[in-house]
Amino acid sequence: MNQAPRPAGRATSTAAPVSRLIEAFHRLPGIGPKSAQRLTYYLLRASMDEAGSLAQSIVDLKEKIVFCSICQNVTEVDPCGICSDSQREQSTICVVEEPLDILALERSRQYGGLYHVLHGVVSPMDGVGPDDLKLDELLARLKNGNVKEVIMATNPNLEGEATAMYVGRLLEPMGIRVTRLARGLPTGADLEYADDTTLARALEYRQDV
Ligand SMILES: [Zn+2]
Repeated sequence: MNQAPRPAGRATSTAAPVSRLIEAFHRLPGIGPKSAQRLTYYLLRASMDEAGSLAQSIVDLKEKIVFCSICQNVTEVDPCGICSDSQREQSTICVVEEPLDILALERSRQYGGLYHVLHGVVSPMDGVGPDDLKLDELLARLKNGNVKEVIMATNPNLEGEATAMYVGRLLEPMGIRVTRLARGLPTGADLEYADDTTLARALEYRQDV
């Protein structure tokens, strides 16, 4: 009798639901095989409530979360809480790469304006051009003339700098001030990992592009 070849690296003694979850965790960013195993065995011992609520959170994330039609941030209601908050400074838009960057900037408590999420950066190496970013949506927001300053808060690496320069040139004819977060953020690091004080200072001492 012919036996089907075993998938490489998979312990056949492991029950299928266990190895399926290990593989699912392993596919997540930043999760190595050891961590994937640890998480799986943790959940195996966890209560049904705890495991169920984790599973439900994942389903909710996919079912209830949409992009805000104004700023492109992730939200449960459209427009999002920030865009519909009239108390916020309406004349400044802070442009970020990813929704997580907004969380980091909000934590710094230094900024009270609006945001715009590009959902990426210009990166020719990865085949990402300006057309792949939410730039048309940004331009549409600037048409009414209410916005006086756009702060480019893309990450302080090659792609982030190139994107800031690109947007700076794009907005130049519109007469809108374009600024960039001050140096002091660790070069090459992601905004989401910067500490609150560093981010607050980078915002305060922002410079014209
Ligand atoms: Zn919004």
